[in-house]
Amino acid sequence: MTRFQCIVVGLGAMGSCALAELARRGVRVLGIDRFAPPHDRGSSHGGSRVIRLSYFEHPDYSRDAGEALRHETGLIVGGPVGNGASAGMLRSAREHGLKVEALDGAELTRRFPMFRVPADWECVFEAPGGFVRPERTIAAALADAARHGAEMRLDTPIERWGADARGAWVECAGTRIEAESLVLAAGAWMPALLAGRAATLRPTRETIVWLDDRGDERFRRPNMPVWLFDRGALPAVYGIPRFDGMGAPSGMKVGLHGDGPDATPESIAREVDAAAVARATSAANERLAVDAPLEVVAARHCLYTMSPDTDFVLGLHPEHPAARVAIACGFSGHGFKFAPVIGEALADLAMHGSTALPIGFLSPQRFAKGV
Ligand SMILES: Cc1cc2nc3c(=O)[nH]c(=O)nc-3n(C[C@H](O)[C@H](O)[C@H](O)COP(=O)(O)OP(=O)(O)OC[C@H]3O[C@@H](n4cnc5c(N)ncnc54)[C@H](O)[C@@H]3O)c2cc1C
Repeated sequence: MTRFQCIVVGLGAMGSCALAELARRGVRVLGIDRFAPPHDRGSSHGGSRVIRLSYFEHPDYSRDAGEALRHETGLIVGGPVGNGASAGMLRSAREHGLKVEALDGAELTRRFPMFRVPADWECVFEAPGGFVRPERTIAAALADAARHGAEMRLDTPIERWGADARGAWVECAGTRIEAESLVLAAGAWMPALLAGRAATLRPTRETIVWLDDRGDERFRRPNMPVWLFDRGALPAVYGIPRFDGMGAPSGMKVGLHGDGPDATPESIAREVDAAAVARATSAANERLAVDAPLEVVAARHCLYTMSPDTDFVLGLHPEHPAARVAIACGFSGHGFKFAPVIGEALADLAMHGSTALPIGFLSPQRFAKGV
C-alpha cells in the first residue's frame, strides 16, 4: 500500500495552497477533493475576493499574503462616526506601519464621486487594497502542486479519517490510504469531517449579487476602488468593480457580509433567496451616486463557515498532535486573502508540528468544547 508523507483533504482555497506548498518543499503529498476544484459548491467561487493589508478584524492578519493574481484597485472602508470598520483599519495600519489615508465623507465623495455617503462619515483609503481571483488562484495552486509532483484524487469524497501512533489515514471509495501527517481543509464540510467535535462551526448561506453598471466608467476599474461600508448592527455592504471571466457574471459584484442563514453545503444549490438579493441590492444602491438604482444581473449563493469569534481555526487537532493532523476551517467570510500564508502554516504544522508564523491566536484549543 502507498504511504504518503502527507494527505491534504479539501483542495479549495486553503487546501490547494497547502498542497502546492508541500509539493514545493519536496514532500510526497496526495491531495483529495470531493469535486474537481475550482468549483462553485463551497466558499471559493464568484470571480473575486476583497484583499486588504490593514485588516480590521485582527492586526495579526496583516501579513503579506502574496502578490500573484492580485488586482490593486484601492480599497475604501467607511461608515458613520465611530464605526468599527474604519477605526479597526486605522489601528491595524498604525500597529503594522502600513500607509492608509483617513478621510471624511465629504472628501471621499469629492475624490470618489461614484459614492454617496454623509459628509461627516469616517472613511479610510488603502491604495494597495483590491481583489484577488479565487478560482484562478486555486487553479494556479493546483497546477503548481502538480508541477512539483503532488498526486491528486478528484471527485473522491473522504468518508472517514483517523490517526494513531503510526500516523494518519483516510478512507475513500473503499480504499484506505495512509500518511505520516494529515491536513483537513474541507471548508463548510468540516462539521461533517470533525463529527461530534464541530459544534462550534456554523456554515451560513450568503448571497452574492451582480449589478448592471450601465457602462458608467465611474463604476469601473481603474476609477472605482473596492469598497465596504459599515452599517452598525446591520451586515456591512461591500462592492467590487466588474471583472469578467472564470464563469463570473458581468457586473459590479455586491453583497452583505454575514447576512445569510445557517446552511449546509447541500443547501447552496437551491434557488437564490430573492429577499437576500433585494437586501444586498438596496444597501449597495444606497451608497452609490445613481439617479435610478442599478439593477440585478445575476445572483448566486456561497458558503461562509463561521467560528464563534469569527477568527480562523488553524492549528493541530487537539486530539491528534503526535500524528500531526492540521486543521484549517472557520474562515468566517474573510479567509481568502490569507490562503497562501495559511498554506505555508499548514505545511509547517503537517511536517514539523509547529510553525514560526504568528497563528497562536487561531488555535483550535481556544474553544473549550472542541473545534
Ligand atoms: C460570498 C463570499 C464572499 C467572500 N468574500 C471574501 C473576501 O472578500 N475576502 C476574503 O478574504 N474572503 C472572502 N470570503 C471567504 C473566503 O472565500 C473563504 O474563507 C475561503 O474561500 C474558504 O476556503 P476553504 O478552503 O476553507 O473552503 P473551500 O474553498 O470551499 O474548499 C473546501 C474544499 O473541501 C472539499 N471537501 C469537502 N468535504 C470533503 C471530503 N469529505 N473529502 C474531500 N474533499 C472535501 C470541497 O469540495 C472543497 O473543494 C468570502 C466567502 C464568500 C462565500
